[in-house]
Amino acid sequence: MDAVLHFLIPAALVLGTVAFMEWFAAWSHEHIMHGWGWGWHRSHHEPHDEALEQNDLYAVVFGVFATGLFVVGAFVWPVWWIAVGMSVYGVLYFVMHDGLVHQRWPFKHVPRRGYLKRVYQAHRLHHAVEGREGCVSFGFVYAEPVDQLVKKLHDNKQGLDAQALKNDDQAQSG
Ligand SMILES: [Zn+2]
Ligand SMILES: [Zn+2]
Repeated sequence: MDAVLHFLIPAALVLGTVAFMEWFAAWSHEHIMHGWGWGWHRSHHEPHDEALEQNDLYAVVFGVFATGLFVVGAFVWPVWWIAVGMSVYGVLYFVMHDGLVHQRWPFKHVPRRGYLKRVYQAHRLHHAVEGREGCVSFGFVYAEPVDQLVKKLHDNKQGLDAQALKNDDQAQSG
């Protein structure tokens, strides 16, 4: 019983929260950030030279919320592990999206095989459409197979930058 309380339940809370956060992040990316929340998110879809984007405020909002959960969690222990799960998701989001895809860290590494390559290319496809309409691939940690996303993009009939992926391949081999 002790093992269940002290390990299995926390582990289930953390993993469950990470999975829920990926679903919630993808949902809010599609329906809020590309909807009424586009005002902050637009900065992430437009080229710029600044280190920070208005879009980073979304990460701040999630951070403040997780901090609040830690405070509540100091009194209600299951909430503490939910806060840990949110924080783990925050790190995953940063590594996959800000790091791997957008290279906001001081080294360049483009994944060339396996699942990380799929996540990378899927998010490049998210940025292959100009503006907020007709985009695909709203998740950050889970990505659909790339060929399915390409098909969806064509179905959306948006002005697709067909060179987007090719250019990336050339950039990394050059
Ligand atoms: Zn977006
Ligand atoms: Zn992005």
